[in-house]
Amino acid sequence: MKPQKKDIRALTKNQLRDFFVENGDKAFRGNQVYEWLWSKAAHSFDDMTNISITTREMLDANFVINHIEVDAMQRSNDGTIKNAIKLHDGLIVESVLIPTEKRTTACVSSQVGCSLDCKFCATARLKRMRNLNADEIYDQVVAIDKQSRLYHNHKLTNIVFMGMGEPLMNYNNVIKAIDKITSPEGLGMSAKRITLSTSGVPKMIKKIADDEVKFNLAVSLHSAIDDVRTSIMPFNKNFPLTDLKEALEYWYEKTNRKITYEYVVWQGINDRKEDIDALVRFCKYVPAKVNLIEYNPIDDGEFQQASERALNNYISILEMNDIVVNVRRSRGKDIDAACGQLANKS
Ligand code: SAH
Repeated sequence: MKPQKKDIRALTKNQLRDFFVENGDKAFRGNQVYEWLWSKAAHSFDDMTNISITTREMLDANFVINHIEVDAMQRSNDGTIKNAIKLHDGLIVESVLIPTEKRTTACVSSQVGCSLDCKFCATARLKRMRNLNADEIYDQVVAIDKQSRLYHNHKLTNIVFMGMGEPLMNYNNVIKAIDKITSPEGLGMSAKRITLSTSGVPKMIKKIADDEVKFNLAVSLHSAIDDVRTSIMPFNKNFPLTDLKEALEYWYEKTNRKITYEYVVWQGINDRKEDIDALVRFCKYVPAKVNLIEYNPIDDGEFQQASERALNNYISILEMNDIVVNVRRSRGKDIDAACGQLANKS
């Protein structure tokens, strides 16, 4: 059996330089090929026109360039675009382009499926198949950047890790992808325009604080009462709110950066006065703001968006306590592209 060819994009720049030196070429050739692979997003060695044909053939004999493909694209009447992205092994993830007046945001996936079990999220119903590689995460951003230029005449402005999967459970690859996204050799975007959303894995929040990451942190809180949170996000049993609080304090101490809490208010679940009071108390631990997200129904009707009155109660009590609160209307609902609706339906 022929040995399997390696994914060339799993190599670092230095490894690629070493490869050329070991094969009797110049280290500089590694830089050239690296540029083709990342900033020029080449899908084939044949695209590398400043590399000799012999070298291209040698590369082709040793490596493959795995790449993603936009398998299907749906456009919402609000301009949101949902992409079904086919990976090299045929698995599918979804990524979304969300345009607003001033910016375009890419919402990208970090895992195929998800290992968490949030009861209100469609992705949780797909079991986790595998982590995405760094290049598969990066490529989603490149694909959406192209769509932003094509449909909105400007490059992508923001990225949120709010697609499928729990990014902190695929941390190494997410970090490698963010390094590429922010590097001048990749997309050269500012880390300040990237937000990683996590369901709240305390150990990993401390780790990213230690790593002095420069992106923003959002935490899907949804309840600041352990029993309630465990009933809708069962993994909270293993990562209770005291641990989350402690990790967030650690994050703030190290980074001095405000945290965003994502929060959906559901009828009969977290719409009581005591739920609001608990959130207010939680918001006092570290500087934070709250994004109230509209609930996007996922078929079975177990969860219902709370009444306008309950939402207004949240807003007025938070504001009374000087906590910044934004109400986030969902985009792309008509094509199941909104938060929590990514489930490879097509
Ligand atoms: N695993 C990460 C990122 C993916 S979810 C996380 O948990 O943060 C992105 C956001 O959508 C999270 O805040 C999540 O709680 C929210 N969400 C999930 N299902 C939803 C739904 N049906 N309606 C509205 N928001 C939802």
